[in-house]
Amino acid sequence: MADTKYVYTFGDGKADGNTTQKELLGGKGANLAEMSRIGLPVPAGFTITTEVCTYFYDNDRTYPPELKDQVNAAIADAEKCMGKKYGDPTNPLLLSCRSGARESMPGMMDTVLNIGINEEVVQALIKQSGNEHFAWDSYRRLIQMYGDVVLGLKPENKNQDDHFEVILDAAREKEGVEHEAGLSVAAIKQIVVDFKKVIKDHAGIDFPEDPMEQLWGCIGAVFGSWGNDRAAVYRRMNGIPHSWGTATNVQAMVFGNLGDTCATGVGLTRNCSDGTPGFCGDYLINAQGEDVVAGTRTPKRVEETLQQDKPEAFEQLTNIGKTLEQHYKDVQDIEFTVEDGKVWMLQTRNAKRTGFAAVRIAVDLVNEGLIDAKTALEKRRIPADDLNQLLQPIFNPSDKEQAQKDNRLLAKGINAGPGAATGQIVFHASDAEETYNKDNDVQLILVRKETSPEDLRGMKVAKGILTAFGGASSHAALVSRQMGKTCVCGCDSLNIDYEAGTVTVAGQVLKGGDWISVDGFTGEVFAGKIETSPSEVMEVMTGNMKPEESEVYQRYAQLMAWADEHRKLNVRANTESHDAEISLQLGAEGVGLCRTEHMFFDHLDEMREMIFSTTVEDREKALAKLIKFQRDDFTHLFKVMAGKAVTIRLLDPPLHEFLSEHHMHEDPALAGKLAKTFGVTEEDVKRRVAELVESNPMLGHRGCRLGIVYPEITAMQARAILEAAVACKKEGIEVLPEIMIPLAGYKAEVDNQTAVIKATAAKVFDEMGESVEYMTGTMIEIPRAALTAGEIADTAEFFSFGTNDLTQTGLGISRDDYKGFIGYYTENDIMPADPFQTVDQTGIGRLMKIAVADGRETRPDLKIGICGEHGGDPKSVYFCHEIGLNYVSCSPRRIPIARLAAAQAAVEAG
Ligand code: ADP
Ligand code: MG
Ligand code: MG
Repeated sequence: MADTKYVYTFGDGKADGNTTQKELLGGKGANLAEMSRIGLPVPAGFTITTEVCTYFYDNDRTYPPELKDQVNAAIADAEKCMGKKYGDPTNPLLLSCRSGARESMPGMMDTVLNIGINEEVVQALIKQSGNEHFAWDSYRRLIQMYGDVVLGLKPENKNQDDHFEVILDAAREKEGVEHEAGLSVAAIKQIVVDFKKVIKDHAGIDFPEDPMEQLWGCIGAVFGSWGNDRAAVYRRMNGIPHSWGTATNVQAMVFGNLGDTCATGVGLTRNCSDGTPGFCGDYLINAQGEDVVAGTRTPKRVEETLQQDKPEAFEQLTNIGKTLEQHYKDVQDIEFTVEDGKVWMLQTRNAKRTGFAAVRIAVDLVNEGLIDAKTALEKRRIPADDLNQLLQPIFNPSDKEQAQKDNRLLAKGINAGPGAATGQIVFHASDAEETYNKDNDVQLILVRKETSPEDLRGMKVAKGILTAFGGASSHAALVSRQMGKTCVCGCDSLNIDYEAGTVTVAGQVLKGGDWISVDGFTGEVFAGKIETSPSEVMEVMTGNMKPEESEVYQRYAQLMAWADEHRKLNVRANTESHDAEISLQLGAEGVGLCRTEHMFFDHLDEMREMIFSTTVEDREKALAKLIKFQRDDFTHLFKVMAGKAVTIRLLDPPLHEFLSEHHMHEDPALAGKLAKTFGVTEEDVKRRVAELVESNPMLGHRGCRLGIVYPEITAMQARAILEAAVACKKEGIEVLPEIMIPLAGYKAEVDNQTAVIKATAAKVFDEMGESVEYMTGTMIEIPRAALTAGEIADTAEFFSFGTNDLTQTGLGISRDDYKGFIGYYTENDIMPADPFQTVDQTGIGRLMKIAVADGRETRPDLKIGICGEHGGDPKSVYFCHEIGLNYVSCSPRRIPIARLAAAQAAVEAG
């Protein structure tokens, strides 16, 4: 049997490997091979495979026996390509040793340069280059990197002394130079002596003079760096399996530090912040490797000065950029070195980009003929979530930078609602509303310990919301996402004193009316004002800008058109009447969830009257006052959504959300007012409030359990819906109402409510002398409903997964109470993700699959959607596509994200 191939060579227009072999060769190695294959200038070298890394950890940090011979043969190959010999005292080849995992792990693992220098070789380098400074500086760098990386002398934190840097600092100070590039040769020679002494003193060994010993030391260190803590933490955060391992790349050195004809740099084949075409990057003349990114010298911009500095190098780079894009069909992020005017390629990979850039680049590449529209939709090119950046206001980058420089960052919370908002602090929703009513242009940030349903109207008029408590699924977070509002929540360093009207944070006391800025993309909170720019896409959609005025909008629209062509899932909005228009602009193909309780919160007095009623008659009287508001709202919604399905959910929350201790506490006069209105005593009021208290409201008297005990509520709602529908039909508007029963677990519950709806419908149609087609269906949000979906589908004409409650009841986890452990759970690999953000596919997803299969067995044309928060989460959308749902429904601002995600699911499925 032939020996396993552990070493893959590249260089001179040839390579053993190629770009598809990332698993075996790591990203860096696979692409060095590929670049060599397509004839780009790559210093010769070889890649030791990730299998060796696995062997290394399985066998006590030793190597497969055949590795040594394979490495020696590969060194001989590189020597031939480069016309130099490793360790040779007259014509020495130097090597670098570089880590390279399957996915890039920036800064996590180690690289050593200039391997192969010793006292003899340094003399040969002087003779060959005629540049003593270069030779001694390269030697100096080797000893330092070897000490740091191989011998572990790099300090773990800032409190420990960095022995090498201490020596360098002293030398720089002594010679009065800013950077070591300016040191005299004598000084560097002395540093080499001192560095060797550091190694002797702190690692207890002599710096190895033997080039082969140096090389194997470095190879061991690169494989070893895969196992260091830093790398392990990074992998956990980024979902990279510990089992993958890294490859090690050994490569002939080329020199950017041979003098002013040389340079080293990094670049992008086009701008990845905004997507503008054209090469851009950073370079430093007469420098090596990490100098560019280390921040000790300020690099120059390739696109600004390289053309003048080094016209030939600029031309080579531009051409290489084009070749790379043509070949990889994507923007590349590259590392290069210029040695005596010749450009050498040291790395390439698909570049990371912002959401703005992602959209522009994908559309541009299609227009340039490099890719087709289907390829442009790939999720690795445009993570669907990143579309947010085009839909929300952002801080002007320079103004935000200034705020950072001015130390105005106050705190960091959870980035719950993307966008940027700047405004004056207001602590109470009612004050926010009042101020807004006086001046519609006022910019307000609602700052609260937490928010609750009565804050809704204040939240609506605020530019942003900032809370001290609550996590990513707190009321503030959910409602902000629903409204498309910037929100930072759970910012626990805020100390809010409602009575004093102050918030204390980072040693500063801010008052109501003071300016504050919140970044909902990052969770940052800044003191003072930071100018924002509105989203051009939203400006066009709201009619403030013409489509032809915004290139950003045009590209967005183009991308969305491609997405719509490819997707199979329909996308609907979770919306009430007030943002129905914008939902349409954002691409809603109907309403998947109209929550009716918002209408009740707007009419608390009538709602409370109903709560205080003790007889059916009194309740009906109170409800009769509410019906007009409901009917008007539905009429508006039907008109906006003409010809599209509108799913309306019957009342869902428990009654104490409309009247509780909390309300009495917030408004001490409330009990008195209510007592007077209803002609009872304050004691009676308090007794009624006490009756409504539940110790676990999520599992209490809510959902269809309300409509079953108080059928007049369901009847009123069904009447409002159907009267509105008939009225619209009479005006010639096509209406497709779908009436949805919440929180059912038993077929009998669905039967009961459906009967109430049907009886009401018969009455309404008779009274109005006209009827409409409508559907009745149910939410699937209780595990029992999923498990008995076959029976339920006998009555229900459609299903809609309420995955918030389904997750809550299926996992037995209250999303209001999981803050204490969810962080620990995800950090320690107990749960792969927050199940309230991404559908738990193995558990909750299984319930969904059962419901889909059994439901459709009973009723083959059963329409099935999802209306939980998950409907706008790309991973969950992929899952909904897979299990064959008809549509996803999400908050308006997430509609474009869901459309793109649905297209990505379809494209990926082939
Ligand atoms: P990282 O993964 O941290 O970017 P690399 O292995 O890419 O580490 O090395 C960092 C830098 O070191 C490269 O960008 C390049 O400038 C320099 N470098 C690595 N190998 C060589 C080489 N053979 N010749 C010249 N410079 C090199
Ligand atoms: Mg690199
Ligand atoms: Mg629910």
